[in-house]
Amino acid sequence: MTDTPTPPAGAGPAAWTPPTRFAVPGRIAVSNRAAATWQRAVLTDIRRETPRAATFRFAVPRWAGHLPGQHLMLRLRAPDGYVAQRHYSIASPPDDLGHVELTLDHVDGGEVSGWFHTVAKPGDEVELRGPLSGFFAWPGDRPALLLGAGSGVVPLMSMVRHHRARNLAVPLRLLVSARGPEELVYASEYGAETTAVFTRDAPPGVPVGRLSAAQVERLLADGPDGGWEAYVCGSNGFAEHASRLLVGAGQPVDRIRIERFG
Ligand SMILES: Cc1cc2nc3c(=O)[nH]c(=O)nc-3n(C[C@H](O)[C@H](O)[C@H](O)COP(=O)(O)OP(=O)(O)OC[C@H]3O[C@@H](n4cnc5c(N)ncnc54)[C@H](O)[C@@H]3O)c2cc1C
Repeated sequence: MTDTPTPPAGAGPAAWTPPTRFAVPGRIAVSNRAAATWQRAVLTDIRRETPRAATFRFAVPRWAGHLPGQHLMLRLRAPDGYVAQRHYSIASPPDDLGHVELTLDHVDGGEVSGWFHTVAKPGDEVELRGPLSGFFAWPGDRPALLLGAGSGVVPLMSMVRHHRARNLAVPLRLLVSARGPEELVYASEYGAETTAVFTRDAPPGVPVGRLSAAQVERLLADGPDGGWEAYVCGSNGFAEHASRLLVGAGQPVDRIRIERFG
């Protein structure tokens, strides 16, 4: 079952038939059943990304699939029945069937991220439901300009991986902000599509500073005919900063999608 779409403005009932799979800019089909059903997931691998972030790989045999950019709900259950649940973006691309990868920052004093970083081991079971939210999904059908900071790069990496896995020709650029090189998640995976910005320390020859208006203006000026669909993900502060720069550089507000982790 999918969310019921609304007809485009101005289209009368006779002119418009609901598509079976609703995929237009701004709204992507989400299966209500998948979003509501908890499934068991077995942790199969843990990969360190940075001193504060690690990727957790799960086998989820009945996973319904997802689009790059979507997230899920994860639930931990203690033996006494206490449960904790949190949202996490999906890092892996859709073609990694039966598996889901999440990349978690270790939040100081964090209940769920703390458990993953200090206790979890391969073979442990958790529960997941999803995928959730079509709004931040990128099906790979339109030029995408991705701006992320810290673990906000996680859903954007699913898009980059999908772009590579399917060898898509549609333009895609990633601008990722980190405090320093040692905190740059997925550092070894970035290619020509990526520009990294370092806010506290940078490698020799690379300036230190926040994402600037000039960088965003350049990306928009070099964009494809018809412009970009912009996806912004990170803390509230980063989301505000990046979206203000995008609007200032002329990106239409209705073509900026924002996911906030804060
Ligand atoms: C749509 C969505 C997608 C998300 N995807 C990811 C992801 O891919 N990777 C990821 O690491 N996190 C992600 N998050 C954040 C995640 O849901 C949790 O908030 C985070 O893991 C902290 O949970 P916790 O149980 O460890 O900490 P809690 O026990 O909930 O919080 C402990 C303390 O840390 C503070 N805190 C909580 N969250 C954060 C934070 N994100 N940054 C700084 N301080 C915080 C709290 O105010 C509290 O003081 C996402 C959030 C949303 C809404």
